[in-house]
Amino acid sequence: MDKGYINVMEEMVATLVNFYMTGNEYQTFCKCKKCRNDMIALSLNNLPSHYVTTEEGRERIYDQLNTEENRMWINKRIINAIHIVGKYPKHDNTD
Ligand SMILES: [Zn+2]
Repeated sequence: MDKGYINVMEEMVATLVNFYMTGNEYQTFCKCKKCRNDMIALSLNNLPSHYVTTEEGRERIYDQLNTEENRMWINKRIINAIHIVGKYPKHDNTD
């Protein structure tokens, strides 16, 4: 926790986006850094932030977010973001 505070939702979304992008389901989607970052940013704009300042808080919030019900709506927003970025990628075509 370098900054002294962290958005647990951001950690969770970044992990999930990277996980989805390595799976079979999204193999036709662009996996460049720019697209992944756009997917993460777009998801986070549609999800509440959950900042914490301690490792204990981080674990507690992670457990709270990691329920079946919460994972369902978080995944919904992430998958929506993956499709939007996949359809309208903003990456530089030279890479
Ligand atoms: Zn891309």
